Amino acid sequence: MTQDSPLHPRHVLNWDEIDDVLLDMDGTLLDRHFDNFFFEEELPRRYAALHGLQFEESRDILMAMYRSVEGELAWTDLHYWTQRVGIDVVALHRELDHMIGFLPGAEEFLRDLRRIGKRITIITNAHEAGVSVKTTKTGLDQHVDRIVNAFEVGYLKMRPEYWPRCRQLLGFDPTRSFFMDDDEGCLMAAQQFGVAHLIHSAKSSSQLPPNPLTQFVSVTGFSSLLNGNPTI
Ligand SMILES: [Mg+2]
Repeated sequence: MTQDSPLHPRHVLNWDEIDDVLLDMDGTLLDRHFDNFFFEEELPRRYAALHGLQFEESRDILMAMYRSVEGELAWTDLHYWTQRVGIDVVALHRELDHMIGFLPGAEEFLRDLRRIGKRITIITNAHEAGVSVKTTKTGLDQHVDRIVNAFEVGYLKMRPEYWPRCRQLLGFDPTRSFFMDDDEGCLMAAQQFGVAHLIHSAKSSSQLPPNPLTQFVSVTGFSSLLNGNPTI
């Protein structure tokens, strides 16, 4: 690994040094526009209708609810939200599944990784019920060896406890592993654990501008990854 400067990290990827490819799902392979729209717009709209609230008021209430369990498994637990909000969020996922889709180039990237013989695992904070709606819609599961959700591990990815347990579950060597995520906290926890090859997905939503980080190598697509010279 070489670094041009602390503010512009560079990382030359040598795929011969990588056995395991660990990939985040939402915001890395799948367009996070769905999730952003779902939790920041549609659910507040439904909650407002249910309780006779203004949209802004409803959104403030829900945002406070989300924050109250941030970093805990409940944060992404769809059954928990169904109970707490009083709206069937799994059914609502299915209702809006036309908005679920791959980020540009993601399927090709997965095919290329298969072709060069890497073990591909999706490690997601998402709940199994949401994963199921998304794989049914996209066929994402057909492209990878395994999908591990945070509930199987017992922690969310941004928690230090996640990584040793995930390693135990999958049996990967962090020094020969690649991990890509759109969440800074998840990348930092992976770095602390010693995952050698870390890439930040800077274009998590088709509807938002890229959001590059300074301390990780950020990319806005997949094409620069396989030639070993990731660039924005
Ligand atoms: Mg993500």
